Amino acid sequence: MQLTFTEMHTPTVGLQIQVDRQLYTEQSDFQRIDVFECEEFGRFLTLDGYMMLTERDEFIYHEMMVHVPMAVLGEKIKKVLVIGGGDGGCVRELCRYQHIEHIDLVEIDERVVAVCKEYLPGVACSLDDPRVHILYQDGLKYIRRIEDEYDLIIIDSTDPFGPGEGLFTMEFYGNCYKALKEHGVLVNQHESPFYKGDALACQRAHRNIVHSFELSRLFQAHIPTYPSGHWLFGFSSRGVHPVRDLNPDWWNSLGLETKYYNTNLHKGAFYLPNYVQKLLEKVEARAGEVMELMDRFFTLAKLEAGDMELERSRVDVGEVCRETVLDFYQILTRQEIRVEAEIPEGAVWGCCDREALRRILNNLISNAVRYGGDGGYLGVSLREGEDALFLEVADRGKGVAPGAGEQVFQRLVTLEDSRSSGEGSGLGLS
Ligand code: SAM
Repeated sequence: MQLTFTEMHTPTVGLQIQVDRQLYTEQSDFQRIDVFECEEFGRFLTLDGYMMLTERDEFIYHEMMVHVPMAVLGEKIKKVLVIGGGDGGCVRELCRYQHIEHIDLVEIDERVVAVCKEYLPGVACSLDDPRVHILYQDGLKYIRRIEDEYDLIIIDSTDPFGPGEGLFTMEFYGNCYKALKEHGVLVNQHESPFYKGDALACQRAHRNIVHSFELSRLFQAHIPTYPSGHWLFGFSSRGVHPVRDLNPDWWNSLGLETKYYNTNLHKGAFYLPNYVQKLLEKVEARAGEVMELMDRFFTLAKLEAGDMELERSRVDVGEVCRETVLDFYQILTRQEIRVEAEIPEGAVWGCCDREALRRILNNLISNAVRYGGDGGYLGVSLREGEDALFLEVADRGKGVAPGAGEQVFQRLVTLEDSRSSGEGSGLGLS
């Protein structure tokens, strides 16, 4: 009889391994745990039928997860948190650094640790190191109460479904940010960019990390038994850069013997193929838009609560008008909107909050483009009265229904009629 392990990577493509022996099987409280043995990859661990690691290629994954951040932060890394990773592979690599003082391993499933200690001793060999503290908890919950504690956090989780799902959320990454020290780095397994379903998971994870960290870069490695063989990892920080801040001399002076990682490959791993860059850029652009929208909502909430101090000063209102119209140059040209700007040439001084003025003008123009753009016209005029300045923005779109004028000044109202011509955030004129 021939025993075969199959993991489908798409509905029609999969990984198939001829198995010599099944060494262990168990349904734990969280997942099904299996250990098999085969000719090509030696022993391998699967959880819920998904490949976690094989003796033959695990070094690639674990070396990249650990040595990349170590070669950047070096001796600054004293206290490390590993979430997931109950097989012990990341812990094994971390324990090779004498200067690391403390490693917390937060693994949800006690059984994974026990099974790996018994059947995969080459991977689990450092789990009894006195610096390693194993906490059997859900990483999602654990991280909520931690602040400013770790130099490095490694998320060595299962895929974004089942117990690992929460470890890909914005809430989780936000809490990791809080749990890291100022110079700290987060490294996470970031899925594969290749097959559609995986690429979506990868984009979602990236979107959530980009929201939480100032700097977020991806790096890659070739892992034969993972879907498509092309795997990504994330490196995120408040500003520490994975390539510019790399310290190759320090790392090479340690003389660590590695099978995959070296400091040249480190640099190369951050240069991604064009199709991956595109996937990420899409997400980053959208993340930027969402951040801007959130910013606007918060500003609005602050204004509502009277929480926002307006800083009046002497402002050249004419200059603000010119700058703001220019910000729309591309979209106005693309939509062939004719612009008539009647703004006096010299300075037009007014007393107001510069940022608030910019925001108001920006809202007026973007509404004119979005809802009145089909009229093909935008007018901006600024004139000086006796003791006031008059600023007008006009379009020749279909306008609002008679009688709806009052509502225009209500917050968070987008008139039904205007929806058809575009998406409205409802952040309008007021
Ligand atoms: N290298 C693997 C991969 O990506 O295929 C991951 C290895 S590792 C064995 C993943 C571990 O994460 C599992 O042991 C699983 O029990 C643990 N895990 C999943 N969800 C978790 C959670 N919410 N908190 C802590 N550990 C979790």
